[in-house]
Amino acid sequence: MSTTHRPYNFSAGPAVLPEEVLREAAAEMLDWHGSGMGVMEMSHRGKEFIAIHEAAERDLRELLAVPAHFHILFMQGGGLGENAIVPLNLSRGGAVDVVVTGAWSKKSAGEARKYADVAIAASNEADGHTSRPAPSSWQLRRGASYVHLCSNETIHGVEYGELPDLAALGSDAPLVVDCSSHILSRGIDWSRVGLAFAGAQKNIGPAGLTLVFVREDLLDRALPICPSAFEYKTVAAHGSMFNTPPTYGIYIAGLVFQWLKRQGGVAEMSRRADAKAQLLYGALDGSGGFYANKVAPEGRSRMNVPFFLRDESLNDAFLAGAREAGLLQLKGHKSVGGMRASIYNAMPIEGVQALVGYLNEFARRHG
Ligand SMILES: *Cc1c(COP(=O)(O)O)cnc(C)c1O
Repeated sequence: MSTTHRPYNFSAGPAVLPEEVLREAAAEMLDWHGSGMGVMEMSHRGKEFIAIHEAAERDLRELLAVPAHFHILFMQGGGLGENAIVPLNLSRGGAVDVVVTGAWSKKSAGEARKYADVAIAASNEADGHTSRPAPSSWQLRRGASYVHLCSNETIHGVEYGELPDLAALGSDAPLVVDCSSHILSRGIDWSRVGLAFAGAQKNIGPAGLTLVFVREDLLDRALPICPSAFEYKTVAAHGSMFNTPPTYGIYIAGLVFQWLKRQGGVAEMSRRADAKAQLLYGALDGSGGFYANKVAPEGRSRMNVPFFLRDESLNDAFLAGAREAGLLQLKGHKSVGGMRASIYNAMPIEGVQALVGYLNEFARRHG
């Protein structure tokens, strides 16, 4: 067996998975637990898959301490699908307030406009999505059907480390949180949440699986045109089996949840996220301006770190050298440019140390 490690993969999503999980899945590919079947080949209604599904949901509920009055739904459609599914289920065609802090929440506002009266409660567009509008400055309308927040903007790298308390801000609306890119890297204060959703491909598993956490009292609001397969009440009533769920995605997610529990759970992930983020931002800030992350320090994401080289003509050389050093997928999103390092749960601190070593070395050679 080779003792060399796989390259470190900094993709924003689909993203790195724990190597242990990939090895387990590979070992079980042809025959899951002596069943004679691979997971992809099983009926979703058979006892084998039902066991996989139930364990995944139980472990997820435990990891995030999800209260009993929240349903956990395993759906399809991704984060952008939820941009339509949420207003179809919750808006009642009424007022929806959206906090725009980057590309994803901007898309959420645009999609919700098809179904609801959308107002932008706050926006950091004027500063290129680098600030983090304080909740006390948000313009919230009384009687809004919900308030939408993307608590970590994956492209622009702006994170709300703490969810706002809408009631304390004088709003009676439920908070909808797109937590696609920080889910399971920190706890969630469920007392402040009406609904949370997350595409799996950032911090959980394969693209295609979408997790929805929805408070029981919000199940009765769907517009009549809402497709049945996307109606939370229907999906909840059928235990996420109204139609065939993304079975393989649920299986891999379940393996990731078990891995997280072995690692020490969400609290340990949060500690590691702090350590990794401090290391990386420290290197960028300490580079004497060779590199720069432009996000206001209090709003810097612990998961997605966009950065720029002062001399952008070095971008191609930077990326080529990174690839050679076993550091993959560091190119920034096309709408922002520059670089981006995503350092999700499955990225070990050694990967960030290797990146920092490369950052320093590259700056020494070209500075
Ligand atoms: C990736 C991402 C999405 C979009 O997910 P899709 O699965 O491509 O629809 C939405 N919101 C956030 C915060 C994301 O990171």
